[in-house]
Amino acid sequence: MQPRGLSHVRNFGGNIRFRPRKRYLPRDEEDVLRILDEHRTGPIRVIGAGHSWSGGIETSDALVDLRHFRRIRIHPDRRRVSVGAGCRIAELLAHLARRGLTLPSIGLIARQTVAGAIATGTHGSGRHSMSHYVESVRIACYGKNGEAEVRRVDSGQALRAARCSVGALGVVLEVTLKCVPQYYVRERCVWRAGLDAILDNESAAPLQQFYLIPHTWAYLEHERSVAVDNHRSSIAMLYRAYWLIVIDVLLHLGIKLTASLLRSRRLVDFIYRRLLPVCIFPQWRVTDRSDRQLLMRHDLFRHLEMEVFVPREKLRPALALVSDILRAADNADYEISAGAHDRIRALDLQDALENIRGSYSHHYPICVRRVLPDDTLISMASCHGMEEQDWYAVSLITFTHPRLPFQNVAHFLATTMAPLFNARLHWGKWFPLNARQIEDSYPGLAAFRAICAQFDPQGVFRNQYLEEALFRTSDYQ
Ligand SMILES: Cc1cc2nc3c(=O)[nH]c(=O)nc-3n(C[C@H](O)[C@H](O)[C@H](O)COP(=O)(O)OP(=O)(O)OC[C@H]3O[C@@H](n4cnc5c(N)ncnc54)[C@H](O)[C@@H]3O)c2cc1C
Repeated sequence: MQPRGLSHVRNFGGNIRFRPRKRYLPRDEEDVLRILDEHRTGPIRVIGAGHSWSGGIETSDALVDLRHFRRIRIHPDRRRVSVGAGCRIAELLAHLARRGLTLPSIGLIARQTVAGAIATGTHGSGRHSMSHYVESVRIACYGKNGEAEVRRVDSGQALRAARCSVGALGVVLEVTLKCVPQYYVRERCVWRAGLDAILDNESAAPLQQFYLIPHTWAYLEHERSVAVDNHRSSIAMLYRAYWLIVIDVLLHLGIKLTASLLRSRRLVDFIYRRLLPVCIFPQWRVTDRSDRQLLMRHDLFRHLEMEVFVPREKLRPALALVSDILRAADNADYEISAGAHDRIRALDLQDALENIRGSYSHHYPICVRRVLPDDTLISMASCHGMEEQDWYAVSLITFTHPRLPFQNVAHFLATTMAPLFNARLHWGKWFPLNARQIEDSYPGLAAFRAICAQFDPQGVFRNQYLEEALFRTSDYQ
């Protein structure tokens, strides 16, 4: 296990770039313990697939890559699978599928590592996040006397913390997850009159996700439910090809070309008003295996994303605010609603709003996904210490460069939505808030910090992102 050379490390989105002093590819747990012994002043960070936009992987000292930890073991009860931390989700899904099994919940892509995905509460739609389904974790951390050790965490608050820890407890070596019999998903895409129509259909299509389309501000529902029988539709192959070519490639190419390269607001408008409607075929109802249907090639074009979670009771005003602010950013003369105006005035952020007016034209559908309450301390859908309710993840994506105009608008939305709606930001996506701003939204944060102190008393696993987002509550800490 020789440390690798001093090359730069870059994440998927290209917004994180750094040079660690040492980069390790350990082959077994003993190797990991040696790294922890050697770098006990830190910071030690782990990299998965590098698909986060937040700064979790950054370190000036030791970067650990667990790509050799890929062993998969299905338990005899066929309800649990233990998997090496560095195994990619795609590899795990393929292994499970060959045995008639799958994961209860996945995100839009499967390129992430298992430990990377659970570290940030990665989620899909209509189920809990992946973190919720973690049954136990093996983790390399520090003991009371500062010696490196491996702990198995399988119950209580420590498990709730380890299920989604942003890597703050130590190096996750192996994860045991629930698995379920393979299931099929029936879906279609259909335009809806508004949010009410979408929510009315939620119980009939519990795996639904929906999109708020910029420029037209129309609602498109990806209506999805578990199919009653595991039978693949005859047009499933054609549908997969259509989705890949028309949506994943051509639509994204069109958006990238018009918004990012030509910077033409009119052409982006044309795409959403004229082209997108003719690309949607609501009469196509297609059933396919869950891991084919739920995944997209969302990773073909590099982008930057921030995702804001709001509790169900706040979804309506939150979406109204998002669309109001994006319209004001697009058109300096746009008059925001009285409700949004009052909310912004209550926060004394009128000047900040004036600063972003007319500065940025949003050009990508806003995807909204429902995540059921998680039994964790700090995943975005965690309900620890509060009344259980579903959370809705609202995603904001940009393809344009420079990214600053988008970041200014996203920052404004994050700073308004956190206090107004108890909103939480995805730990793996662009993260412009600090620990003071998020504290009130996470009743489990104090318990999480206490568990971190037991696993990492010297803060070896903390980097600047973790310090700012999770731990530092005053300027002087
Ligand atoms: C195209 C694209 C699509 C996406 N779609 C979704 C989606 O549908 N839903 C969703 O919720 N998210 C989505 N994401 C976000 C992504 O799932 C998360 O950011 C996830 O954390 C990335 O996993 P990774 O393996 O790349 O981890 P990395 O980005 O490499 O690391 C993420 C964090 O986990 C820590 N970590 C990684 N491995 C370990 C370990 N073994 N021990 C301790 N800490 C560790 C890292 O230090 C870092 O803090 C998407 C991202 C992209 C780029």
